Amino acid sequence: MRYDYESMADKRRRLVEKLVREGYIHSEKVLSAMLRVPREEFLPEDLRHLAYEDTPLPIGMGQTISAPHMVALMCEVADLDVGMKVLEVGTGSGYHAAVIAEIVAPSNRSREEWGHVYSIERVPELAKKAMENLRRSGYADRVTVIIGDGSKGYPDAAPYDRIIVTAAAPDIPKPLIEQLKKGGKMVIPIGTRYLQYLYVVEKDKDGRIKKKPVTSCLFVPLIGEYGWKEWE
Ligand code: SAM
Repeated sequence: MRYDYESMADKRRRLVEKLVREGYIHSEKVLSAMLRVPREEFLPEDLRHLAYEDTPLPIGMGQTISAPHMVALMCEVADLDVGMKVLEVGTGSGYHAAVIAEIVAPSNRSREEWGHVYSIERVPELAKKAMENLRRSGYADRVTVIIGDGSKGYPDAAPYDRIIVTAAAPDIPKPLIEQLKKGGKMVIPIGTRYLQYLYVVEKDKDGRIKKKPVTSCLFVPLIGEYGWKEWE
């Protein structure tokens, strides 16, 4: 199938301008990452024409790619910076991981300054597709995709400066608190099928945890040992 890259770039710019007007994007780094990452490359062929609608979309296996405003908001409240090591739980399509990578390891900075994104996905079919999407769009060297239960984190690369969870948990998974650096931040949706809140969780220098609500939200469940067994 052919698509028109120029018009995709125009649509991307228009969407990003709308997210700035609506207050979801306010930093230069999130702005330039959202302008650089081609969301269409992370969607099934038949949905690519909807890439710049501000809505979640199906990516197969009953899962979704998050809406662009939620990706932007989560990156803003995570307070990401160049050089950071980030764990994303819930790779899905790989799009959010690419946006995080574009902030912690920007295309226009030297590799010596680059941080890294570890992204973990429990559905192997999605993880494999995400790896393909990340390779095609040029992020494979900045994002490592792992297949597994992300409610247990990924201890092999811990501790992390930031942890971003893109599926709703019943509570903050204990292993994720343990794998967060002192002074680090985690962004995580917590709640049930019908009522969820996005939280920023901060671990201070003494290891104490502070939890601040950001907004209401709606995510698919975090299924795993420290997540849901199934929705209640
Ligand atoms: N960040 C994704 C993107 O950019 O496309 C969207 C994530 S989607 C809303 C949530 C993802 O979390 C799904 O792909 C789902 O399979 C995954 N997931 C759910 N429970 C998980 C777990 N315990 N560990 C890892 N991934 C999990």
